[in-house]
Amino acid sequence: MELIFERSKPGRYNQMIPDLDVPEVAIPEAFKRESELHLPEVSQPDISRHYTELAKQAHGVNDGFYPLGSCTMKYNPKINDEMAALPGFANLHPLQPLDTIQGALEVFTESEKLLGEITGMDHMTFQPAAGAHGEFTALLMFKAYHESRKDSKRHKIIVPDSAHGTNPASASMVGFEIVNVPSDEAGCVDLEALKAVVGEDTAGLMLTNPNTVGIFDKNITEITKIIHDAGGLNYYDGANLNPIMGVVRPGDMGFDIVHLNIHKTFSTPHGGGGPGCGPIGCKAFLKEFLPKFYPVATEKGVEFTTPSQTIGSVKGFYGHFLVLVRALTYILYLGKEGIPEAAHNAVLNANYMKHHLEDLYEVPYGGICMHEFVMSVEKIKKDTGVSALDVAKSILEHEMHPPTMYFPMIVPEALMVEPTETESKETLDEAIKVYRQIYEDAYKQPEKVHAAPANTPIRRVDEVGAARNPKIRYEFS
Ligand SMILES: *Cc1c(COP(=O)(O)O)cnc(C)c1O
Repeated sequence: MELIFERSKPGRYNQMIPDLDVPEVAIPEAFKRESELHLPEVSQPDISRHYTELAKQAHGVNDGFYPLGSCTMKYNPKINDEMAALPGFANLHPLQPLDTIQGALEVFTESEKLLGEITGMDHMTFQPAAGAHGEFTALLMFKAYHESRKDSKRHKIIVPDSAHGTNPASASMVGFEIVNVPSDEAGCVDLEALKAVVGEDTAGLMLTNPNTVGIFDKNITEITKIIHDAGGLNYYDGANLNPIMGVVRPGDMGFDIVHLNIHKTFSTPHGGGGPGCGPIGCKAFLKEFLPKFYPVATEKGVEFTTPSQTIGSVKGFYGHFLVLVRALTYILYLGKEGIPEAAHNAVLNANYMKHHLEDLYEVPYGGICMHEFVMSVEKIKKDTGVSALDVAKSILEHEMHPPTMYFPMIVPEALMVEPTETESKETLDEAIKVYRQIYEDAYKQPEKVHAAPANTPIRRVDEVGAARNPKIRYEFS
């Protein structure tokens, strides 16, 4: 398809930009650009058709099934956006006097209360912009906490080998050394291996439960106790909160800080370069280390305070407020009954799919899974040469998004499926049919699977070339 620059014709224009409603100011000569500004000159239909055409080349959650494990691609209810678009929320300025925005500030105190109740935490900050940013913020707090106690030898963070890559990356950015603990045959933390690595240098542990193979670690209170007894802190990676929200609480499992991926568990849009929100919650004894702009309800209304030993700011102002409005809408809409019901349905859907696939696709960590499960294509690959990548590419032919591939790294040729609670039985049955068909093709006509996808606008891309030699800029002649 043509790029927007290729559609451009000199002199063509459209009227989508509102008239100037402030006095015009002449730009001083020194600040004026010398080279030509290459803006595409296009009409309104040109723009509309351009973006519609682009959208047709991609597959989104509005197109079909999107079971991307570890990412929780659940449907984002439209009412979330209606609430976020209310002028009282959408037209605020971060420097507006606080007494003019008390209603909006209640979004913070109300979210802290409800998310605190769901996670078992006492206080929350909404400054971090994503899960990984929450991890980074929390680890700065770990560090500040140990330093405040003059406990300076704690420089190690323990991370299981099944962890998401952001865990060791965040810990390393804060200056901690990473200690890996292996998983046992059930995919859970090996307690003996954990005991062998804790000590006076342990700053803390980072863990997600259920873990990245979709299994709830039953030893969780023992694990967190081992860390606490050694003087360390426990961090809960909340990316997998979806199957346990309203059912069990990280705070009761022995965790001291949690992050939440609002864009996963609480139905706000994912990435795309857009703003996200990765709040963290902490137990009362860590409150004074929270970032600046901690919202507190006082007699005069909601005010922002600076905790006495704050780690500082990790984001401008109060974080991405409108994303939080969407999450709060979702929580209030579902209510106390709807939140655990969503969790139960997420677990049911995952187990339904797993049950109908595990006779063909090997599930290395079996038993009842939580909201997602991981299959291994290793045996199929040995038998037929068809890899996890080939299976994923074949799925694209069926107007479905492939699952997460090659993660977690402890499972060879991994495919990680998370149907989420928002999909119907018919959709799951259709997906099961597709997976079973691909399995059959792998053994009967592997060349077809290797060549997939055959019917998509873009077929196999040169991934290595794209990474090594990216062309991301249009060259004007
Ligand atoms: C998604 C994810 C993260 C990182 O969260 P972002 O919001 O993408 O930064 C961390 N841990 C796990 C297990 C995840 O799935």
